[in-house]
Amino acid sequence: MNPALCSVHTHSVLCDGNDTLAEMAAAAYASGVRYFGASGHSHTPAPMDQDNVLPLDLAEYRTEVLRLRSEYAGRMDVLLGLEWDSRSDAPPPPDLDYWIGSVHDLYDPDAGKYYPVDWKAEYLASCCVEMFHGDFPALIRQYYADVAVVAAKKPTILGHLDQIIKLNGDGSLFDESDRHYQSAALFALHSADPQTTLLEVNTGGIFRGYRKTPYPAPFLLKEWQEMGGRIILTSDSHSVDSIVFGYDLAAEAARAAGFTECVLLTGTEQIPCAL
Ligand SMILES: [Zn+2]
Ligand SMILES: [Zn+2]
Repeated sequence: MNPALCSVHTHSVLCDGNDTLAEMAAAAYASGVRYFGASGHSHTPAPMDQDNVLPLDLAEYRTEVLRLRSEYAGRMDVLLGLEWDSRSDAPPPPDLDYWIGSVHDLYDPDAGKYYPVDWKAEYLASCCVEMFHGDFPALIRQYYADVAVVAAKKPTILGHLDQIIKLNGDGSLFDESDRHYQSAALFALHSADPQTTLLEVNTGGIFRGYRKTPYPAPFLLKEWQEMGGRIILTSDSHSVDSIVFGYDLAAEAARAAGFTECVLLTGTEQIPCAL
């Protein structure tokens, strides 16, 4: 067993990925993946999301995933998943094999405005000024309060828990070792149920050059391990060349936090896999 048999956090041209679902599935199979999941971004009303998310009607997406499931039957499980955004305008549909719960935007109800937190530093800066009057710690608390709401919905996988650090690679926005920062992140983590939700160790930020280490940070991984939680390795892949990118780094981070195994998500079960 090898963690790289499983890759279930993936995107295609149907949302903001670079390659078609068929190309992603073919690349996954060629690289040895045997449990491949499509997790397109769920629809949100955020104006900036419109070219980057699935339509509200998932019919075309569902049909294509199920077509690939038939094509690879007996060779590779193809799972129907969704990366469900905290700003989604519909709940995750019941026929999914799994869903990933993620926060990408903060929403200011007074201004009716959405602010991506993981996209460009200038969006994060305007969010801080316009929504939080320059109070960055308040922005962070709101981000983690939103993550806590998603976590409490018991997603199959909690997505990139601390992605708010993505644009802080050089530490210029905030101090990730500050206890106020860490307590906000831990609050979100403690809102997840370790019995039902998997925490992902996500290498997407490394592939895109933002970080040197996967999400989540070591103190969060250690805490999850002490809570008895289970993890899954993911690459948050948006292209055929990153389907299992950085799994060695993710495994190393997980082992350093005390994990000895991760989980492979298949079409029917969750299989423990040694790290
Ligand atoms: Zn995401
Ligand atoms: Zn994603």
